Amino acid sequence: MSTSPQGRPDRGGRGDTAETSVWTVACASCGRTNRVPAAAQGSPRCGNCRAPLPWIAEAGDADFGEVAEQASLPVLVDLWATWCGPCRMVSPALERVAKDLAGRIKLVKVDVDKSPALARRFKVQAVPTLLILDHGRPIARQSGAAPANALRQWVDESLSASHGPADPATRRPR
Ligand SMILES: [Zn+2]
Repeated sequence: MSTSPQGRPDRGGRGDTAETSVWTVACASCGRTNRVPAAAQGSPRCGNCRAPLPWIAEAGDADFGEVAEQASLPVLVDLWATWCGPCRMVSPALERVAKDLAGRIKLVKVDVDKSPALARRFKVQAVPTLLILDHGRPIARQSGAAPANALRQWVDESLSASHGPADPATRRPR
């Protein structure tokens, strides 16, 4: 039973082992491929040029606390299901948002069929359901698919409403 991290098949996604999943991502600045763990302190940066990397992870009932609630960045949670057509549309849009907002947000995908406790806890009645958590506290929620630019705007507005400038007058209307 040898599980060297190097020998794990990485098909552009996470490995199959349940423990600490690793996401491989190409740096948008220099192109270097980086391995990003699902849970870590701080936020991931490129090992080569130090640019912030998009952070995309998967979590379930067992590791949601570690991966999502203990994250130092706000977390965009994608509660999805394999049988859900709109989920397959919204998923690449969310990854776009995670790339655009690298260093500012972490995307955590939760398969509701594999995570019944989370589905109950967040009262998921439709998929996809999207949540934004700030240190484990939900600050925004929406259901249904939306294009990347609308999702990006929703995330931006939710983050600035929660974290944003002390003086609301400095918030730029769009
Ligand atoms: Zn880089």
